[in-house]
Amino acid sequence: MKSAFQPDNSKNSRIFSVRDTENSRLLDVTQSMENDEENEDEKEDEKMSKYCNPLIFIIIFLVVLVILMLSLVVFWKLEVGESCPKNCPELPNECKTAECVALAGTLLSWQNTSVDPCEDFYEYTCGKYHEHTANEGTRMHEKDEIVLNLIKHFILKNQSTNSRSEIALKLLYKSCTESHRRENIEDHIERVQVEIFQNIQKIGKWPIADKNWKESDFDLNEMLTNMAKLHMQDFGFFETGLVEYPINGSPKQLIIRPSLDRFSISQEKLAETIFDVLRFSGHDALRKNLLRDVQESLDLDKELGNFYISLNSWPISASLEEVQSAVPNIDFERIMKSFLHPEHGNWTRLKAKISSGRFDSFFNSKNNISAIISRTKPRILANYLILKYIEYAQFFYALAPISLESEYDTCLMVITSFLPRAAIRVFVRNHFKKENKAVASELVDVIKKAYIEMIQNSTWLHEETRKKAILKVETLKKVIGYTEEYEKEGALDAMFETNLRISESIMLGNHFQLHLSPQDSFFTLMTKINRFKTEQLMEYVSSDSLFNPVEKTTTANAYYYHSKNLLSVLVPFLDKPLFDFQYPKYVAMAGVGRILAHEIGHAFDTKGRHFNELGEKTDWWTPEDSVEYDKRVMCLRDQFENFKDPSYGGRQNDSETASEMVADALGLEASWIALESMDMSKEESLVKFGNEDFRKLFFQVAALDFCSPTRIDTHHPRFLVDLSHPTNRFRINGAFSNLESFAKTYECPVGSRMNPEKKCRMF
Ligand SMILES: [Zn+2]
Repeated sequence: MKSAFQPDNSKNSRIFSVRDTENSRLLDVTQSMENDEENEDEKEDEKMSKYCNPLIFIIIFLVVLVILMLSLVVFWKLEVGESCPKNCPELPNECKTAECVALAGTLLSWQNTSVDPCEDFYEYTCGKYHEHTANEGTRMHEKDEIVLNLIKHFILKNQSTNSRSEIALKLLYKSCTESHRRENIEDHIERVQVEIFQNIQKIGKWPIADKNWKESDFDLNEMLTNMAKLHMQDFGFFETGLVEYPINGSPKQLIIRPSLDRFSISQEKLAETIFDVLRFSGHDALRKNLLRDVQESLDLDKELGNFYISLNSWPISASLEEVQSAVPNIDFERIMKSFLHPEHGNWTRLKAKISSGRFDSFFNSKNNISAIISRTKPRILANYLILKYIEYAQFFYALAPISLESEYDTCLMVITSFLPRAAIRVFVRNHFKKENKAVASELVDVIKKAYIEMIQNSTWLHEETRKKAILKVETLKKVIGYTEEYEKEGALDAMFETNLRISESIMLGNHFQLHLSPQDSFFTLMTKINRFKTEQLMEYVSSDSLFNPVEKTTTANAYYYHSKNLLSVLVPFLDKPLFDFQYPKYVAMAGVGRILAHEIGHAFDTKGRHFNELGEKTDWWTPEDSVEYDKRVMCLRDQFENFKDPSYGGRQNDSETASEMVADALGLEASWIALESMDMSKEESLVKFGNEDFRKLFFQVAALDFCSPTRIDTHHPRFLVDLSHPTNRFRINGAFSNLESFAKTYECPVGSRMNPEKKCRMF
């Protein structure tokens, strides 16, 4: 059998020729020295002294050294196998997929082995991170950018497509960038004003713009209904919104509540905006009357904002019928029906999900919005509703031109925010391994089992609390990437198809279609897309689906929702380099597994522990267990307080940070238990880590996601959000130092920084 070090002939000849050239060059030097000897016989004495000169020996020594080093380079090239020969034998148990090799490279290049892992494990794993990346955050941040760039690359590729969702993305992106170009921005704003005026015509007659307006032209419910058709959900008098919190056994509700936002612009600014809308549409208005009309609307808005909104009104539920009888002049049913798709929307199902609270502005018997409507002049009411629409439309569509020139691609943000499913579909179809989804889903199940084991083995939880905690883990729901209904080929695309017959789209479970045209302006495209999203959202509220259609899809992250007891994992998080289905199990558990375990840990963090398995806010802990829990949280908080970290600045040791520390502590322990429960005997090793204990690699891989450049500037706009978490250094050193198994794996002496005598532990 050929040894790994025996190169094939072609390789040999290449290497030898390199050596020969080197040799001949060296020989030339020696020959010239010999020539000198022959020609200069008379200088023998000098010659002798030359040979005795220590300088010559140094030169010869250096020459030999160079030869040795060159041979070493050649030898090393052979061994590493820059281009391993065909018959290069398989090294047993090494994972050789591109993802595994890249991961091994990352581990090797980011680590700083001159640091003692028992003193500073963060530095040991991440010490050279900044030498290898220009990325400002962690590799998860980098993945976010990569995904966005892949989507952008796809959109800009001049390739024709039959996919309607891809066409929609391309259309919206093109329209967004073109309309917001500096040279087009004035035309764009002018066109928006004209289209706003056209939409106002759809809402109803507008006294400000119509000298012939008369009271009999006013129909409150007609106007409100038409506003809803334009996908508005805040009407000034009340607003509607999706609430994912269980009420009366229903986990999702469309609620009716008082409007929370009031006009945020001044009388002058509002009048100016109206003036523009009228001017560009060829309608003039008397500026004097305009100011008066605007002031009347502002006064009404202020009056509507005077109601006391008590948090206690919620979630004390009120039914649609109750709100309807308290506010008889608003036809809630008619308005909310118009959120639905005219043909396929199911009112019976949606109606069952509508609820409200006993809010003052609805139920106060002396003064409520019904009384205000009755005593306000119709002219003021009509103007008020139109002004609400104008403010909304301006805010929604007038992207500041300057934002297009910033380092962010605003239009890329627009398409991924407004067409999140179409955007992620591009990534899934072109870059994502579907096997990753299934393997990650199994990983979640293993982690759930580990949680149950951890809770069962808790030394302090009372039986009552223990049972409830286990129930919460058992009933935890998950969305891994996307739900089953989107597995079917073309399922997502069907939503965008215009040439499908209705029966086909019903078969695919989708009733809603988006019809976009290249002739549509950016404003029209956005209006259609938002209407489409409203219809989708109503379907989501009415159904049992766990996949919220308006949530962002393109970030490399995972989330836990207290009120749903749901773990949601986004697709980019399940992709290289963070995850791969062929990663050895200990790698998968350390990386993505550890973060999923962290997310599940939020079910028991300082906030999450107040919600039960259904997502209802309730105290299911015995009083003694609550006291003990708080004591253990305090241990973590003290640890963070005393932790020295250059990037601590700006962070608060508050309950928010405490929640994250609890999730870290629980997640790390659970993923370790899960690791120990798995059979690792058949798992492959990583290249260059052949003899390394997989337990050591578990911790090193687990730390990779927290490697980041040291940031003192915590006010950087992109990282402000990270202030809610402890520093990355603490999330490694602090969290790992609490784990007995870490100290054991790395044989850290008691009292070393990574193996302190006092450890904090949650369960
Ligand atoms: Zn967290």
